[in-house]
Amino acid sequence: MQAVFDGHNDVLLRLWENRNKGGDPVKEFIGGTTQGHIDLPRARKGGLAGGLCAIYIPNATETVFSAPESDGHYDTPLAEPLDRVYAFDIASEFIDIAYKLDRAGGWKICRTGQDIDNALADGDFAAVLHMEGCEALDKDLKALELFYQAGLRSLGPVWSRHNIFGHGVPFSYPMSPDTAPGLTDAGRELIKACNSLGILIDLSHITEKGFWDAAKLSNQPLIASHSNAHALTPVARNLTDKQLAAIAESNGLVGLNYVTTMLREDGQVNTATPMSDMVRHIDYLVGKVGIDGVALGSDYDGGPIPEGIADAAGTQNLVQALREAGYGEDDLAKLCRENWLRVLRAAWHENH
Ligand code: ZN
Repeated sequence: MQAVFDGHNDVLLRLWENRNKGGDPVKEFIGGTTQGHIDLPRARKGGLAGGLCAIYIPNATETVFSAPESDGHYDTPLAEPLDRVYAFDIASEFIDIAYKLDRAGGWKICRTGQDIDNALADGDFAAVLHMEGCEALDKDLKALELFYQAGLRSLGPVWSRHNIFGHGVPFSYPMSPDTAPGLTDAGRELIKACNSLGILIDLSHITEKGFWDAAKLSNQPLIASHSNAHALTPVARNLTDKQLAAIAESNGLVGLNYVTTMLREDGQVNTATPMSDMVRHIDYLVGKVGIDGVALGSDYDGGPIPEGIADAAGTQNLVQALREAGYGEDDLAKLCRENWLRVLRAAWHENH
């Protein structure tokens, strides 16, 4: 088994939604459930040792994904911008759940590479707090320190909607990621603040212009935690060859997203997506970025994934498919965790 440290999951969103309906996040995570993708029993079974856990602020009204037209294309309108106070309140509720799990022994919130190493060695689920879209922050970043002190070690300036920091891409197919402007002045300040504090900057969900704006300013390796190859699946959320080349150049990383719309040639929601589509993206990404710059970014609990994995308990099915495709154990260790650990340490100013 190869322990997997994964670049993106939405388990906190599922636990938060359930708590709003009377559920108990600690019981659900530690005791397990049949719902969604991640809980402790299923993570242990599948060798999912930890990952970046998103603080994601849901839209005020539910996102309705547009059905494909007869020729297969679809255009999902971009979600509406969010109110800061609404977003701040929900972000604090996600953090409340994260620490209730930490205190109950469900997982360990990790702030350093050493914390992750320790959690992995002890068999604890290593959770790194990530903010997916910074609607909870004010333009002067007066709340950033508060979140940093609460353990935030990674953020994406935008999700797939616009905010005061920049512009996100819609869930549309086929579509270029060059859909809107890039970072705002406040977004540029956010990149600088992350560089100086040591918070990883995640460029998944941002427009292509935003990607280049961040690339120009940031002194970190370029990271897209849960995006795939646009050449294979031309959704706006995936990365062009030019973006992949820039990631390679910066010693950065791209994490494979398991959601079927981002894997399939036709960009559709269809859980009967073969494992070969995942291997095909990994092969392509490794060809463009190199074996040191590709990793996993499942998006567990974030969308429909191939039935060959089904949930966190099936994580090793992907590892096995890659093994059968010819990846040796040293390469698998890089894809499964070592590459993530390297870029996190770089972003966190840890030289070892
Ligand atoms: Zn996402």
